[in-house]
Amino acid sequence: MTAEALRPSRVEVDLDAIRHNVTVLRARVPDAIMCAVVKADAYGHGAVPVARAALDAGAEWLAVALVEEGEQLRAAGIDAPILVLYEPLPGAAPRILAAGLTPTVASVPAGDELDQLARHMSLRTAIHLGFDTGMGRSGAPPDRWDDLLAAAAGWHGLIVDGVWTHLARADEPDVSTTAEQLTRFADVLGRVTAAGLTPRTTHVANSAAILLHPGAAFDLVRAGVSIYGLSPSPDVTAEDHNLRQAVRLVTGVSMAKRVVAGTPASYGHSWEAPADGWVATIPIGYADGVLRALQNRATVLVGGQRRPLVGNATMDGCLVWCGDDEPHIGDEVVLLGSQGEEFISVDEWAAIRDTISYEITCTLGQRLPRVHV
Ligand SMILES: *Cc1c(COP(=O)(O)O)cnc(C)c1O
Repeated sequence: MTAEALRPSRVEVDLDAIRHNVTVLRARVPDAIMCAVVKADAYGHGAVPVARAALDAGAEWLAVALVEEGEQLRAAGIDAPILVLYEPLPGAAPRILAAGLTPTVASVPAGDELDQLARHMSLRTAIHLGFDTGMGRSGAPPDRWDDLLAAAAGWHGLIVDGVWTHLARADEPDVSTTAEQLTRFADVLGRVTAAGLTPRTTHVANSAAILLHPGAAFDLVRAGVSIYGLSPSPDVTAEDHNLRQAVRLVTGVSMAKRVVAGTPASYGHSWEAPADGWVATIPIGYADGVLRALQNRATVLVGGQRRPLVGNATMDGCLVWCGDDEPHIGDEVVLLGSQGEEFISVDEWAAIRDTISYEITCTLGQRLPRVHV
């Protein structure tokens, strides 16, 4: 948004928390290069300021999902290496080379396209090869490993600078799949060497792996959710690892109403005042990511106290039951983060919404200004 926001609703991001988290993670895997994953607008936190804070705290690489996201960082003047985690779609090569991004390549056609353009421009462009060892998503599947490596050995416009895979269940302490994937990755590395390729970096670990399997850090770690101080899963929590939630979701009371017991409110009249008391309206709704799954289950902070979010959430407004305490227009209301002694974690919302922390911050609405403090 260009003009200053009139609505008090905003996403506040504590860049000190980001720096703290990067420092904590680096100490956990001191021999690995830290790559800060800032895809999806830094999981909803604002890609450019987060990227700068992470680099300040010692991250050396950034990773994004889209070429467009890499271009946005370059346009802001960030010159750190940027890994694109998905292989480029046909036609993307010119923009990858123009922005100086490091693409992942997982198939021969994608590598061929990059190689031809790089040679045409007399470049040698660094790429990372992505291998599927059990995630089943975007890496090269095992039956194409050898073809990919044979082709890569002939790509003279490209340098295979990195080789990586991605773990499907790194956040679950008691599954055998992580060890199985690491065994398959060792097989990949053997084939890479046999093909005559000498990548400088090999990498596997996401946040959960950094926290649970630091021995699998290899040369570089790709830390996403943990740099925001969020938990990869209920088994691997931010709290247990001294990570600090960077996000606060804040608004202010926009109207206060005194109601009598039994007064119904909002669409469908699914809620009625349990007693005579005060209802506050807050100018934030499901268009901002305060989804209907939260109503009558989540609490918000007003005056340092937890208050229930009541009635059906609407697109632009929600209701808070304040009981005997009269709210005043402009009083700060915190939906996520701390106020006074109280704190609402993203994990708490994830549990209510039956989802993961990642989905909560990624679905905070675009129209909420991101304010970096
Ligand atoms: C998103 C992503 C990451 C970061 O994962 P976190 O769990 O957020 O740390 C790492 N690697 C790949 C390939 C990803 O897609």
